[in-house]
Amino acid sequence: MTVRLYNTMSRTIEEFRPIREGEVGMYCCGPTVYNYAHIGNLRTYIFEDLLHRTLVKAGYRVKHVMNITDVGHLTGDGDDGEDKLARSAREKGRSVWDIAAFYTDAFFHDEEALNIIRPDIVCRATDHIQSMIDIIRKLEEGGHTYISGGNVYFSIDTIDDYGKLARLNLDDLKEGARIEVDSNKRNPKDFVLWFTNSKFKDQVMVWPSPWGVGYPGWHIECSAMSSEYLGDHFDIHCGGIDAIPVHHTNEIAQSEAAFGRKPWVNYWCHGEFLLNDKGKMSKSSGEFLTLSVLVEHGYDPLDYRYFCLSGHYRSQLKFSFESLDQARSARQTLVRKVAQFRRQGEGAASLDGKARDYLDSFFEAMCGDLKAPQALGVLWSMLRDPDVADDMKLTCLMEMDSILGLGLDRVQAAVDEPCDADAEALELLARRTEARKAKDWAAADEIRDRLAQMGYKVVDTPSGARLEKL
Ligand code: AMP
Ligand code: ZN
Repeated sequence: MTVRLYNTMSRTIEEFRPIREGEVGMYCCGPTVYNYAHIGNLRTYIFEDLLHRTLVKAGYRVKHVMNITDVGHLTGDGDDGEDKLARSAREKGRSVWDIAAFYTDAFFHDEEALNIIRPDIVCRATDHIQSMIDIIRKLEEGGHTYISGGNVYFSIDTIDDYGKLARLNLDDLKEGARIEVDSNKRNPKDFVLWFTNSKFKDQVMVWPSPWGVGYPGWHIECSAMSSEYLGDHFDIHCGGIDAIPVHHTNEIAQSEAAFGRKPWVNYWCHGEFLLNDKGKMSKSSGEFLTLSVLVEHGYDPLDYRYFCLSGHYRSQLKFSFESLDQARSARQTLVRKVAQFRRQGEGAASLDGKARDYLDSFFEAMCGDLKAPQALGVLWSMLRDPDVADDMKLTCLMEMDSILGLGLDRVQAAVDEPCDADAEALELLARRTEARKAKDWAAADEIRDRLAQMGYKVVDTPSGARLEKL
């Protein structure tokens, strides 16, 4: 099936055409490992995982590369502030290497819990310093750099299309620019490729280079690692939308200048923010939720994955525990359904008729710019359709879940049933819901009493009734 994706560069949905037949090279900016990932960060990785799974389902061999930023990411995007890792290490009284290792492990623990497929290549910035130096040398040979105050800068005036991804108006920027912190810059939008003149005397992570002992700027790492594993022209580059105006803009500028090819990347895909009451969830605002906090509140990490699927990746999504409750209830219903089908002994069926149509519509929604909410709608219609046999339903669900990643393939006949309710009890519960809808309170009460005799208590919640063992 043809995949269509919104390309931030063209601001339109385009048909995806790979550079090499049947293959996709995909680079995703990874975490800066100075703290736990918050659930906003994790929304972005879930979106990238959906893209990965959709491409695989569409028949591509995907090479997914993700970096770990363990050096060079300053607290300010404009080369100002302190190295995020160095600051975290100082605050916690641990070495930068310890901090990086600890939060990298924590990150992959979260990814696994969210059923995110591990990228084929995960690479650390600190393991690729030489590649970064090589690119900076190329840029120097091409006349794109200058040294000022001991640091090596990229000069954006040496290229004619700086800012094309974000559609920056450079004249406006110059006039409206804030007072520039770094007086070494010729143009406020120039950026550091290599720091030798560190603002921090105790900078621990330093390496020798042709320009002196120092450390790389943040943006150069992604150009170096993507080209090392995917070549200097590849298919898809992903990240959160906050990367568009500075990080990805600078990656494009330096990569196209160094590799001498345009476009460097064919498709730019960006995920929108997760919001909380105060706006964008962010580590710097101090108000953020982690996956482990959700787990402490009794949620399964996959409830959060379902919640993310309920919004399109290019729309902002507001987090609330009420919405998470709804997601949990929906996911648990899916789990119960699969458990019920397994108990019935349903096996794989070859799909035809309506079941096949539902599956086609589901893939169409996902291949058409990852419309997960629409795809979920198709899933529920399929599940409720009395004309689709249970073995077809189970087969369809498994196919759909190979993209959704809700872990339904791991559900056993009984073990994974959330409340261990047996099929008859669930059937009664559904009948009680119908009776209540029809305002037949006597019938509803009678069913509740029968359930009590069977050992179940009915708990009514805003998102529907569920059973608990008495
Ligand atoms: P960081 O670890 O800070 O480098 O961020 C990791 C990823 O999370 C980046 O792709 C960011 O664009 C993304 N991100 C940051 N904040 C949010 C948010 N509130 N919602 C969704 N993605 C975010
Ligand atoms: Zn990056």
